[in-house]
Amino acid sequence: MLNLIERKKLIDAAIKARKYAYAPYSDNFAVGAAVLTGDGTITGGCNVENGSFGATMCAERVAIFTAISNGHRDIRAVAVVADSTPLTPPCGMCLQVATEFGPGIEIIMADLHGHEETTMLENLLPRSFKFDGQRSEDRQARKTTNT
Ligand SMILES: [Zn+2]
Repeated sequence: MLNLIERKKLIDAAIKARKYAYAPYSDNFAVGAAVLTGDGTITGGCNVENGSFGATMCAERVAIFTAISNGHRDIRAVAVVADSTPLTPPCGMCLQVATEFGPGIEIIMADLHGHEETTMLENLLPRSFKFDGQRSEDRQARKTTNT
């Protein structure tokens, strides 16, 4: 579990990222997210809507993809901040993306008024899709085991 300082830093990073949200089609439902990786790196992301709604990208995936794009695969926690009641959890697609880099990822939901809730990714998406060990690193591991 993240300690209080780590959690505050992560929520603050998500609040900062939220300021850059591009959300003209949802009446400015601005969302910020931040990812904490195993080495302490924090990457942020905001939602980026698009007039072709299916092209819209959530803040959480922007933050996760930014972490991955910078060489980080050990994700410890994802914070998501919106000005909403109840607190906004990541959507199903973002949870599925996060499971690729889990298990054991903390999900922190917060608003702009000091309310927050922490749970584990597995609680929000208990039966995530798995590609049944067909990732190249898994195939490589099987080859090593079989020889
Ligand atoms: Zn999402």
